[in-house]
Amino acid sequence: MKPDLHCHSYFSDGKHPPDFLLKRAAENNVTHLAITDHDCTTAFEKPIVSDYGVKLIAGVEISCEWNNQEIHLVGLGIDYKNPALQSLLGNQQTLRRSRVTLMADLLHQNGVDGLLQYLKKLPCTVYTRSHVADFLIQYGKVKNKQKAFKQFLGRKGKAYVTFQWQSLEKVIETIKRASGLTVLAHPGRYFLNNRKLEELVTHFAEMGGNAMEVSYGGITPLMQNRLEKLAEASSLYISMGSDFHDAEAHWTDIGKYPSPSSTAKNNAIWNHPRCYFR
Ligand code: AMP
Ligand code: MN
Ligand code: MN
Ligand code: MN
Repeated sequence: MKPDLHCHSYFSDGKHPPDFLLKRAAENNVTHLAITDHDCTTAFEKPIVSDYGVKLIAGVEISCEWNNQEIHLVGLGIDYKNPALQSLLGNQQTLRRSRVTLMADLLHQNGVDGLLQYLKKLPCTVYTRSHVADFLIQYGKVKNKQKAFKQFLGRKGKAYVTFQWQSLEKVIETIKRASGLTVLAHPGRYFLNNRKLEELVTHFAEMGGNAMEVSYGGITPLMQNRLEKLAEASSLYISMGSDFHDAEAHWTDIGKYPSPSSTAKNNAIWNHPRCYFR
């Protein structure tokens, strides 16, 4: 079994449709692919032409708030039609629409117009800062995404609008109600010091979280080792995925993430008693 349990389609901030992701997964010998779009499950609501022999797992990546920090949780094996889940996602989608409207105002004050018109033409269900970054590049305002985040979209950026996501606890509970397993996404990307990271993982486990990602695109061996130890200490299962968004970003691809250690793999999420994919 070769899984990739984290990637994005063009229904959130990925660049490709679900069929493309499945084809790419097959080409890269991935057997199980979870599409985990930000705050939407549109990928599962539309017909797919072919699964290319890859098992598609219904997933979602939900933005939440913990200690005034933005944290991402992945739900895997979700019943995407669950009303409590859809209500929470609908709420996040509305917040995201208001957020880009406020960003458009701030950009206007900086002499940049046309964000909302640009966004309307996209195939996505949810708007993210990544879309706004693409707009700024196309507009000629910045050279690349890094610069877009540094100058405009990051916490100190000129068009930054604060987030208002659901609490970590509420999201864990909602994913559980939708029969999914809850995974703490890319814990090394939150810029937390060791103590805070440990606190997050401990809280997440106490609140009923099931697993944490210990491997993803761009992770260092040092961080992977630290995360594997934290997972073990909190009796969490482990998960892994590329967090793939775009085939033109050559440093990432479906199925490309460092292999977890064999000890960690013994506690892989597909060994969880409530996991239906194996
Ligand atoms: P949002 O959920 O609206 O805050 O958008 C966050 C998305 O933007 C993430 O899921 C990433 O795909 C992307 N992103 C965040 N930070 C950066 C960055 N520094 N450079 C490029 N992309 C980023
Ligand atoms: Mn993203
Ligand atoms: Mn994320
Ligand atoms: Mn992601």
